[in-house]
Amino acid sequence: MSNAVDRGGEASFAVLGGAPAFDRPRHVGRPNLGDRERLMARIEGVLDRVWLTNGGPLVQEFEAAVAAVAGVRHCVATCNGTLALEIAIRAAGLSGEVITTPFTFVATPHALRWQGITPVFADVDPRTHNVDPRQVERLITPRTTGILGVHLWGRACPVDELAAIADRHGLTLLLDASHAFGCSSGGRMVGGFGTAETFSFHATKFVNSFEGGAIVTDDDAFAERARLVRNFGFADYDQVQGLGTNGKMSEVAAAMGLTSLESRDHFVAVNHENYAAYRAGLAGIPGIELVPYRDEDLTTRQYVVVEVDGSADLTRDDLYRVLWAENVLARRYFHPGCHRMEPYRSEQDPERLRMPETDRLATRTLTLPTGTGVDLADIAMVCDLVRRAMAAGRPLGELVRAQAAGSRPVLAAVPDDGAGTG
Ligand SMILES: *Cc1c(COP(=O)(O)O)cnc(C)c1O
Repeated sequence: MSNAVDRGGEASFAVLGGAPAFDRPRHVGRPNLGDRERLMARIEGVLDRVWLTNGGPLVQEFEAAVAAVAGVRHCVATCNGTLALEIAIRAAGLSGEVITTPFTFVATPHALRWQGITPVFADVDPRTHNVDPRQVERLITPRTTGILGVHLWGRACPVDELAAIADRHGLTLLLDASHAFGCSSGGRMVGGFGTAETFSFHATKFVNSFEGGAIVTDDDAFAERARLVRNFGFADYDQVQGLGTNGKMSEVAAAMGLTSLESRDHFVAVNHENYAAYRAGLAGIPGIELVPYRDEDLTTRQYVVVEVDGSADLTRDDLYRVLWAENVLARRYFHPGCHRMEPYRSEQDPERLRMPETDRLATRTLTLPTGTGVDLADIAMVCDLVRRAMAAGRPLGELVRAQAAGSRPVLAAVPDDGAGTG
């Protein structure tokens, strides 16, 4: 046991000087491209029409398609997912404090704070990684105006409980569904929960429009307000009805979004096959648990997340370093938790930032590469690396940590395409 590292030979791990398992990086969130010819034909059409933005035909077509998938009446497409959140927050008239989760991409609280609202963090349920509704209700004050839930990894947050809390206290429920386009929960499509939900179509997301996002809702008046805010507050050519911003999606972005949507079934099939390969390849490795999806829900399985047991001899960070050296650019989403990021860490009362479950989770989760950028042989290799690393255990961890503290470069590669920022 203690000489597992020696037995395998130090050279067997790139972190200790061996050759990396992969000659090119394998990324989390490498963009799914879709059909290049269809994309180019659409872009030619944009140029032929000389209609580049401001609600052109492709944006209208994309909005109708997104609304159809989400099963809602209205889709307001935006230039990115963060603006979708900000516009939804404005259209909902939120102010004061809004309760949200700390275990999310930092755009969630940033969108609130950018609108002058204090994000109040409620700790997560460690079993679901989503916000714990009991924590939410405890944090309501006279300044609270809303709840912003997040469907982490595409698994719906407790929407019924959150809606009941919102009802009881007269709050607005919004949902950041950036991870959950095309997902369902309990037979209902994500998109129809709360007052409105938002999507991101960033390059790393399941469906992408280079950069893009959308607000979806069944509320006619809300959709109308969101459209006004998206376009500087313009109701007509020179009639401004209120404070707005520029959140419009361009025609080229919609061209990519429509093309990406056409390959949705293929992307889902690839992700499901990849996920099954990970499940088989990681089965029975002590200290490693693959975060599950419910078979009865529609899921895109865009996120392959493992939890590294805190009691294992090799920590999540050790494994992270081992994998990066092998050119497997796993990501520590969402380490260390938004409550530990600026400006929240400095602005807020430390007592209110105590998030023991998020702290624990943020040191355990690791997101592995999937999508059309990896094949089954890659996944078998990644699983083999994880199995060998966990078997090598403590001695490997000690070497990795000693080396990380020293001066030798550990990483074989750094992200070269900005993939995986979201
Ligand atoms: C990606 C993401 C966003 C931001 O979307 P952008 O399109 O990158 O602006 C917001 N929230 C979550 C949970 C995300 O994953």
